[in-house]
Amino acid sequence: MSKNYDELKTYLDRYQAIRAALTLFSFDSDTYAPDDAFEMTTQITTILSKEAFDILTSPSVKALVKQCKTENLQPIESKNVLEVEKRLEQLSSIPADEYRASQILEKRSQAAWLEAKKKGDFSIFAPYLKEMIETQKRFASYRQKPGQSLYEVVLDDYEPGMTEASYDDFFGQVKEGIVPLIHKISALHKERPNFLKLSYDLNQQKQFNEWLASYIGFDLKRGKISETEHPYTTSLHNHDVRFTNHYYENQMDSAIFSTIHEGGHGIYEQQVDDTISLTLAGGAISSGMHESQSRFMENCIGRSKDFWEPIYPKLQNLFSKQLNEVSLDDFVKGINDARCSLIRTEADELTYPLHILIRYELEKKMFEEEIDVNDLPKLWDDLYEKYLGIRPDHISQGILQDIHWSSGMFGYFPTYALGSAIACQIYHYLMENEPLTSWLKNGELHHLTAWLKEHIHRFGGTKSTAEILKDALNENFEPKYYVDYLVKKYSALYDLE
Ligand code: ZN
Repeated sequence: MSKNYDELKTYLDRYQAIRAALTLFSFDSDTYAPDDAFEMTTQITTILSKEAFDILTSPSVKALVKQCKTENLQPIESKNVLEVEKRLEQLSSIPADEYRASQILEKRSQAAWLEAKKKGDFSIFAPYLKEMIETQKRFASYRQKPGQSLYEVVLDDYEPGMTEASYDDFFGQVKEGIVPLIHKISALHKERPNFLKLSYDLNQQKQFNEWLASYIGFDLKRGKISETEHPYTTSLHNHDVRFTNHYYENQMDSAIFSTIHEGGHGIYEQQVDDTISLTLAGGAISSGMHESQSRFMENCIGRSKDFWEPIYPKLQNLFSKQLNEVSLDDFVKGINDARCSLIRTEADELTYPLHILIRYELEKKMFEEEIDVNDLPKLWDDLYEKYLGIRPDHISQGILQDIHWSSGMFGYFPTYALGSAIACQIYHYLMENEPLTSWLKNGELHHLTAWLKEHIHRFGGTKSTAEILKDALNENFEPKYYVDYLVKKYSALYDLE
């Protein structure tokens, strides 16, 4: 036992406790807090954020980290020390007054984005977006390493190890493999299946989705499901993981796939080992790895015929009026309906990566060129026309649709597509090496969650994405599985050869 590490741990425990409180405040303001709470609660959370910042950047923590690095620690302890060092490097690079100003900007910018989206008026948000881009570029410049582009600094925050060159190669393969296929499918002019447009009772939907969350392995004794406009997952620790859903009467598939997607994130958080859950290294490895787990469950598993074979009768029974005449095959074709659309969060599995490609190209421009933010809406629309052949009629369906840029999250979007690609690589491995088909057909999802726990989830952030892939799949990240999977799956679904 190291005395220095024990002392460092008391600081880190305080830091983690404040982080957990902030997570809870944030979840509460999304789900339960009254509308007028915002201003006063922001005063409280600003104090807590500052407290967390002060603990981590205190001279004692810096000195202890330095000491600990010279000692022989347990692997988990070393990993925690490295995590603190990394965060310190990130935080210490930003002067305290600039950091505080950025926290206030973030809150204001989010509020402006929401108002701009509601009113359909980009000019309300434009000055905040401009300031946000400048702030994030300046923060990135404080940490920029030789040979690294500014954009690469933020890309690395969300997916350590992924460079601009590797993303360029990845998106290049996606563009080449997927765009022609999407054009072929669009040319078929298939109608969206009727059963997806029918009305489904909201209470029955909730009942089914709660059951479905447990069926895929989300532990309701350690987890809760609430409702928000946009579904998401958050975690205080591995025994308190929460996700949200949104139910639409005429889009029954929306809540189902949010349950499976957020459930995938949630199961990951719940299966992190108890011994590391409350430490810095206990979080997920990266945004890309987290997203790989939700997209693996949602798309590779949740949209497969194998998955629905044992449970489709249950859904059919619950909604007999709407689904009685819909065969399993037609249901599976329906939930894999692919068409070019404007809203990323509603996009199907096939067209999804193009929504990300568009944001990737725009973020590169924001970080690497001098652009006027007022030009961004048109650049956005032009890219939608170029890749998906459609243009938004309304700005809230265009550049104002996503919250990310209003909170300074540049470099995050690419991880969504990366997650899909990692998911397909895991799926390919399991199909080749484990009896995945029979696990799904027999409704034995616990075999799957046990595999994920053993090879991915329990490690939290103590391994890198590259290490997980190497140890679990015996391979490096390889985008070709993603493109192959999409081409094979959608060529079959649409009878294209
Ligand atoms: Zn997700």
